[in-house]
Amino acid sequence: MKASKALLAALTLTVLGSGAQAADEVVVYSSRIDELIKPVFDAYTAKTGVKVKFITDKEAPLMQRIKAEGQNATADLLLTVDAGNLWQAEQMGILQPFTTALIDANIPAQYRSSTHAWTGLSLRARTIAYSTDRVKTEELSTYEALADKNWEGRLCLRTAKKVYNQSLTATLIETHGAEAAEKILKGWVNNLSTDVFSDDIAVLEAINAGQCDVGIVNTYYYGRLHKQNPKLAVKLFWPNQNDRGVHVNLSGIGLTKYAPHPEAAKALVEWMTGTEAQTIFSGINQEFPANPAVSPSEEVSSWGSFKPDALPVEVAGKRQAEAIRMMDRVGWN
Ligand code: FE
Repeated sequence: MKASKALLAALTLTVLGSGAQAADEVVVYSSRIDELIKPVFDAYTAKTGVKVKFITDKEAPLMQRIKAEGQNATADLLLTVDAGNLWQAEQMGILQPFTTALIDANIPAQYRSSTHAWTGLSLRARTIAYSTDRVKTEELSTYEALADKNWEGRLCLRTAKKVYNQSLTATLIETHGAEAAEKILKGWVNNLSTDVFSDDIAVLEAINAGQCDVGIVNTYYYGRLHKQNPKLAVKLFWPNQNDRGVHVNLSGIGLTKYAPHPEAAKALVEWMTGTEAQTIFSGINQEFPANPAVSPSEEVSSWGSFKPDALPVEVAGKRQAEAIRMMDRVGWN
């Protein structure tokens, strides 16, 4: 009797012990770089005592690693940008759906996976940037209108290889149908003033330097460049305010299928959708909080408010393959 009681006590201790250990840490695989995530995790650790370990890499190798680790998973959470990437992770079967009442309340449904495989954390607007020297704002209206003759030889675009443009194209297809979307893309390619650029900063610099008059960029790149060069002769314009609104995408997070610390990971995700984390997380990269009750930073607010596209962002994933084929067909490199 005595011995079995002791054994039971030892077992209880072991279970409690491993439970307590599990709650003490969460492991995140992140395609966002250290400086964009560490302050958020540090704040969480300071508040709860739970350690957040993370490794950073590009999204593709991180997803492959989670897949390869399988049931021997070391990662609890995958943090990445663009609904196109999160959707890919969902398709690979490396995420485990979950949601909570708090997450449902904090993040609008359009910024989450309809199967609860992931949730958005911050929003990025992909909008029109224009030369304040050579463009009158009356000339600007919609993304679609950038395909018009008026913009011949005046447009700069980033490469079609970037998921941001694939997601933008996916929403064009969803909104207008394939045929009309392809016409718009053809118009854009015809209006290019120069070869496509490898990143959004280069697009903004080209506008500033007079190589082109308009382009399409994520707003936080404008924020970064504007900080370096306050005299930048480029401004942001919010298109499609009389119809579908500005294209938005997001950074988001999902629980891995074989997460070793699922409860602790869920608690972290919940916290990341709340005011404190949202303010830090979106503020660091000059993005918009995905929680609409939280205000963007002062600088981001200074760009003005806009109506975002109401499409569920997962459309970016669902139509990604179609978008890539279409971009290729029209010669968008
Ligand atoms: Fe980016």
